[in-house]
Amino acid sequence: MAQIIDGKVISNQIKDELKAKVKEYKDNGTEICLAVIQVGNDPASSVYVGNKKRACEYIGIKSLAYELPEETTEEELINLIEQLNNRTDVNGILVQLPVPKHIDEDKIIKTINPLKDVDGFHPHSVGALSIGQKGFVSCTPAGVIELIKRSGYDIAGKECVVIGRSNIVGKPMSMLLLRENGTVTIAHSKTADLKAVAKRADILVVAVGKPKMITAEYVKEGAVVIDVGIHRIGTTDSGKNILCGDVDYDDVFEKAAAITPVPGGVGPMTIAMLMKNCVDSVEIQKQ
Ligand code: NAD
Repeated sequence: MAQIIDGKVISNQIKDELKAKVKEYKDNGTEICLAVIQVGNDPASSVYVGNKKRACEYIGIKSLAYELPEETTEEELINLIEQLNNRTDVNGILVQLPVPKHIDEDKIIKTINPLKDVDGFHPHSVGALSIGQKGFVSCTPAGVIELIKRSGYDIAGKECVVIGRSNIVGKPMSMLLLRENGTVTIAHSKTADLKAVAKRADILVVAVGKPKMITAEYVKEGAVVIDVGIHRIGTTDSGKNILCGDVDYDDVFEKAAAITPVPGGVGPMTIAMLMKNCVDSVEIQKQ
């Protein structure tokens, strides 16, 4: 029977630590400010943006909200980012993705000053992570590392398998596990014999985007299993969303040493780590 890694408890611990740090900064005259830009009114994005604003309020970070209409042009968005880049009172800039189709997402990410790139998506941030330099780390993979470490599992010397190679999860995840001295394998849609590869893992991180794909057959007895996936698979009679991950939780539960549930595992960590990046921005901007 697996230990359940509780992302709600761990993310709350992190938020409380950050709240204390923000108070210290405030007492010394430093206020931290995050600018959040949303273009259009995609309902899921609105929920994420709302959650980010609430987390800022809780921790004591000032947040500036820019809610731009769907028809905002790429040029208008770039102009706003450039203004925020130049403002000394703004520490972090976040553009909620996805942006509408007529706007080039890569161009937008590259416009953000890397010193304010609290999402960690700018090529400078990704490059810094790869060569072990200071910089912002993509929030979801950074949250996974915290979940593993704070649950008492060592990464150094362990066989780590990441399933998925996306730019926002799989790739930075593998670089972070490597930074922690894990022996890292990245598996993906073209991997031959995925089950055999996954079964090597002492630490298995799944970010494959396929509901309940990873069953017990993919898992070594006693592995730590981290499920990054999140899928809405229906609603209850009372209208609540029914969610699941990329891992078949019930099937894997008996075999793993530890497992993250969905919801309540990796999900809450993403915002906690965004808040951490905002707090870390003060030091990063001193460079
Ligand atoms: P993605 O679709 O960009 O990438 C999926 C990756 O899985 C690809 O690299 C692909 O090569 C690999 N893959 C696909 N099918 C495969 C197969 N059959 N066998 C092996 N590999 C396969 O997805 P993503 O953005 O990395 O997200 C992955 C999951 O994590 C999604 O469910 C997403 O909703 C979730 N997610 C959660 C959070 C969070 O905060 N909890 C954040 C980001 C993403």
